Amino acid sequence: MSNAILVVGGGFAGLTAAIEAAELGHEVYIVEKMPWLGGRVAQLNKYFPKLCPPSCGLEIQFQRIKNNPKIHCLTLSEVVGLSGKKGDYKVKIRINPRHTAPHNVDFSLLASSLEGEAPSEFELGLCKRKALYKAMPFAYPARWALDPSTLSVSDSARVAGDKFLDVVEKPREIVLDAASIIVATGWQPYDMANLANLGGGSIKNCISNMQMERLASAFGPTGGKIRRPSDGKAPLKVAFVQCAGSRDENHLSYCSYICCMATFKQCLYIAEQAPQTMITVYYIDLRAPGRYIKVLEQVQALPNVKFVKGKVAEALQAPGDKVTLVAENALTGQKSRIEYDLAVLATGMQPSLAAGNLPFPINLDEDGFVEDGSAKGIFTAGCAKMPLDVSRTAQSGTAAALYATQIIKGASNGK
Ligand code: SF4
Repeated sequence: MSNAILVVGGGFAGLTAAIEAAELGHEVYIVEKMPWLGGRVAQLNKYFPKLCPPSCGLEIQFQRIKNNPKIHCLTLSEVVGLSGKKGDYKVKIRINPRHTAPHNVDFSLLASSLEGEAPSEFELGLCKRKALYKAMPFAYPARWALDPSTLSVSDSARVAGDKFLDVVEKPREIVLDAASIIVATGWQPYDMANLANLGGGSIKNCISNMQMERLASAFGPTGGKIRRPSDGKAPLKVAFVQCAGSRDENHLSYCSYICCMATFKQCLYIAEQAPQTMITVYYIDLRAPGRYIKVLEQVQALPNVKFVKGKVAEALQAPGDKVTLVAENALTGQKSRIEYDLAVLATGMQPSLAAGNLPFPINLDEDGFVEDGSAKGIFTAGCAKMPLDVSRTAQSGTAAALYATQIIKGASNGK
C-alpha cells in the first residue's frame, strides 16, 4: 500500500492538487511532459480574476513545491503504462532527456551564440528559439533544456565539449507506486488549421487568442508590444472573431467558456497600449459569468470598441497583409466585408486527452473530456474535465487532492 499520489500534468490544476495533497502529508509525484511546470497559465500575459501576470500566482506555487520535500517533479516525462488497482497502482513513467546537467547552470551566453533555431513552442510559433533554451524567466525547474535536433553542425561541435551538457543522454523508464492518481492534463487551443473558412492558420496577421497573449506579454516575442507578426507594425484596426471553432458541430460542439473573457481582456490590453486602435468584436453570445459582467461593461464603455452580433463566415488574405472578414449582422441582416490590420480568432479549448493514447482505465466523453474515474481511484482536475477558468481550475485541483487522499485514508482503514 503506497502513501503516494501521482499527479499527471504540471499546470495550474496539477500544481494546486499536488501542493494540497503534499501539505496533507502525502508523497506526491508530478509528471509533466514539458521541460517546465506552469502549463497554459504560464503562457498568459494576465489572468482573471485580478488580471495578475502568471509569475504572480505561479511563483508562489513554485516556492511551495521547492520547499516541500514530499513533492517530486518529473518534467519531460509521461505515463506509459499502468497496472494494479485503486490504492495500489504501479505506474511506468518514461523520462525524456533534458541533456543539461542536473543543476542550475546559466547557458545564456552559449545559447545565444548557437546558429540552429526552431519555432518556439512556448511562443506558439511567433518566433524562433535556440537549441539550448529556457521558455520563460520564471521557469521552474530553473534548468535549461537542450534540443539536439535543432543543433547545426558547428553547434554540435561547440556543445560537444561542454561538461554540463550531455547530447547523447537517452530516455529512461521508472516505475512508481501510487495509491491514487489525479489526471490534470489540461487543454490545447483548438488548432486553427482545422478552421478552413477562417484561413486554416495560413493568413498573415490572423492569429489565435493564445498568440495574442504572447504578443502582449513583456516576456513574449515583441517585449509586450502588440504588433503584427508579418511586419512588426502596430495594428490600427483589429477584429476579434468569437466562437472560432466552438459551438460548432463540425469542430467543438460546446462553449469553451473562457474565450469571451479572453477577448474582453485583450481589448483592454490594446486600449491600454494604443487607445486610438479601432476594435470590432464579432460574436454570437457574450459570456461574462458572475462578477465578470463588470469587465464586459468596462470594455463596452471603451469609445473605440464596437460589438457586432454575427458570425464571421470567412476570413481572407487581403493586400498589405490585411485580413478581410466576411460577416452578417444578425440584428440588421446587413452583410459586410471589411479589412483589418489584425484579426484574432477566439479559438476554443480542447482537452489534451482528445488526441487519444490514454494510459488510464477511464472513459472520455465524445469531446475528449474525462468522465468519472473515482471508482478506480482516479480523479480529474482542471480542464481535463470541462472548460474552466483559472480560479475554478484551482478549486478543482483542491477537490481532486481531497478525493485522492481519501483513497489512502480508506485503504488504511481497511475500506
Ligand atoms: Fe463562444 Fe464566448 Fe463561449 Fe467562447 S466563451 S465559445 S467565444 S460564447
